[in-house]
Amino acid sequence: MCLLCVAKSSSWSSPRRAFLLLAGAAVATPLLAQVDVGESSRLRTLVPAAELEGAASKQYVQMLEQARAKRALAPDSHLQLQRLRAIASRIIPHATRWNDRARQWKWEVNLIGSQQINAFCMPGGKIAFFTGILDKLKLTDDETAMVMGHEMAHALREHARERIAKSQGTGALLSLGASLFGLGQIGDLAANVGTQLLTLKFSRDDEVDADLVGLELGARAGFNPAASVTLWEKMGQAAGGGGAPGFLSTHPTGPDRIARLRENVPRVKSLYEQGRARR
Ligand SMILES: [Zn+2]
Repeated sequence: MCLLCVAKSSSWSSPRRAFLLLAGAAVATPLLAQVDVGESSRLRTLVPAAELEGAASKQYVQMLEQARAKRALAPDSHLQLQRLRAIASRIIPHATRWNDRARQWKWEVNLIGSQQINAFCMPGGKIAFFTGILDKLKLTDDETAMVMGHEMAHALREHARERIAKSQGTGALLSLGASLFGLGQIGDLAANVGTQLLTLKFSRDDEVDADLVGLELGARAGFNPAASVTLWEKMGQAAGGGGAPGFLSTHPTGPDRIARLRENVPRVKSLYEQGRARR
């Protein structure tokens, strides 16, 4: 995306948004969004959302069981986990603006003991943070909310559906579709797709989309959007320190990313002030 275009187009004067408003086609883009992102990709509709969310849920349970077996799953009483859940509970009420399916999602937040700098939100609202991202980057609540908002945005904007639609052969997609009618082997396919979910690498456009939607989600929940800038600066420093598995390998940071966020902070400032007043 051209930085200049982002700077010049306001939410209301953008011809694309005006068209969407007129056409009533902004199904996946809330009309009152302050950040300028388009509709979710139509390609994603090739992968049934309910099936993918079911596969993600299974994969999430499996991952938690593995962590529990290694005594690496934080108990409910863990202070960092309580902090994560408190942050999530403030952001979640704003999620349906971006995806109506989120009304039915059973959101979960867990903390895994691992030195990896990592966090994710699987389709259907299954969130996990690794202790490494909180400890190594010494994230403030605002910065943590920006990571969470970013990851929730990937799920809400259904980037995994789009990625899988692009990566799967047509045959596999047809089988996944057929399974809806009781014809396919959904068990195996769901397991395969579920495994993929943990290693998905999103496109650059998906990352821009998640940055901006996440920024707005966090601001609406009353978290300081300026923290998105310090967050990515910290990520950059961590990446520069060598050895960057997990999040950093799938989320390259750089001047473009930080400049785009910095430019968008003023757009969500009033949302942040309203969100903070509600706290
Ligand atoms: Zn991302």
